[in-house]
Amino acid sequence: MADQQLEDNKLPVREWLRKHYIQAKIKSKAICRHCSKKIFYKRYNYFYLLHHLTNIHSEVLTEEQKRGENVDWVWDYFIPKENKKARCNLCNRFVDFKLLYNLDLHLHIHRLT
Ligand SMILES: [Zn+2]
Ligand SMILES: [Zn+2]
Repeated sequence: MADQQLEDNKLPVREWLRKHYIQAKIKSKAICRHCSKKIFYKRYNYFYLLHHLTNIHSEVLTEEQKRGENVDWVWDYFIPKENKKARCNLCNRFVDFKLLYNLDLHLHIHRLT
């Protein structure tokens, strides 16, 4: 049951970014594990979560992570390709990601099967 709670409170960002934060009780707020600072974020806009780490704790990130273009959690399951298409790691199909929401939708397929 405790696990389920954790699941619900999971920050919707990639695993490597998520591990530096704790989801606060208030949605859209995360707490930095390194300095306890509270950071606000919005769905599909996690810039400040990354920004805080690159500015204050840059030693915890790799160079690639600092560039952090795709930090939404869905990118743990997709590889970006040309023409705004992404390849799903689970089924190898290509999905259009002009809207990031499309990737979200695609992952629902895997949850249901
Ligand atoms: Zn911090
Ligand atoms: Zn898929």
